Amino acid sequence: MKTILQMQNVSLTYHTLKNETQAVKDLSFEGYEGELLGIVGPSGCGKTTILSLLSGILSPSQGEVLIGGEKADCHSNLTGYMLQRDELMSWRTILSNVLLGLEIKKIKTPEKIEHAKELLNKYNLGEFKDFYPNQLSGGMKQRVALIRTLVLEPKLLLLDEPFSALDFQTRLNVVEDVYTILKSEGKSAVFVTHDISEAISMCDRVIVLTHRPCSVKTIIDLFELKDYTPLKRRELPVFSKYFDKIWHSLQDTKEKENDKEITKK
Ligand code: ADP
Ligand code: MG
Repeated sequence: MKTILQMQNVSLTYHTLKNETQAVKDLSFEGYEGELLGIVGPSGCGKTTILSLLSGILSPSQGEVLIGGEKADCHSNLTGYMLQRDELMSWRTILSNVLLGLEIKKIKTPEKIEHAKELLNKYNLGEFKDFYPNQLSGGMKQRVALIRTLVLEPKLLLLDEPFSALDFQTRLNVVEDVYTILKSEGKSAVFVTHDISEAISMCDRVIVLTHRPCSVKTIIDLFELKDYTPLKRRELPVFSKYFDKIWHSLQDTKEKENDKEITKK
């Protein structure tokens, strides 16, 4: 397996006028090409900070962050972000929303426009390309947001709790769609969530973090689930085995931090 990302003994401290907050402490892990790597951890432990380090928006106070062997750099096209809300522009059509990143980066070539249209067609959004975001369901908008990120052809996708604004029913279907898109495009992604079931249903491996300043608590390999899609995984008897494993690992963390966000469903 080829390594796509490396976090090597990374620490990060935020400095403000009033105080210092250490968010990440001596964090090391790797991610592999084509892998969906999940990150779960208590609220405020440093998950978003890790994605900012991977994207190169933040530089580590110590250690090294490498993407495809290169130092993480926010000015390169190494990573692409997908956020909690779809952030589509209401006055632009679906196609022109998908092309937005290409426009900003001044790389909107005819080939890339064609690629964007192909992706919209392939993932059942082709007939909506001239619609506006408010004419689409929440799930469709998240798919558009993902395609907008994919047309930039990043080496690594970063997903920061991308489904938490959706209702449960919609979320199950969008997880299925996003999983299918990422796997069929062969993309590598880091997926942050505080929903244990979501992590198990989508990921190849899950990193459980300690409370802040976060480091790796444990890494759970979901190899035996790899041939199943998210909805199918939820029906497997082993699903609850993994849920309990992650839940207990987080409980140790939680006792120290008394975190309220991660709830057992
Ligand atoms: P998570 O995504 O796991 O909820 P974050 O990575 O957002 O956690 O934050 C980790 C810690 O760092 C929190 O205590 C948060 O208050 C602090 N933090 C995050 N961003 C900043 C910032 N820009 N300046 C100062 N402190 C920050
Ligand atoms: Mg966060």
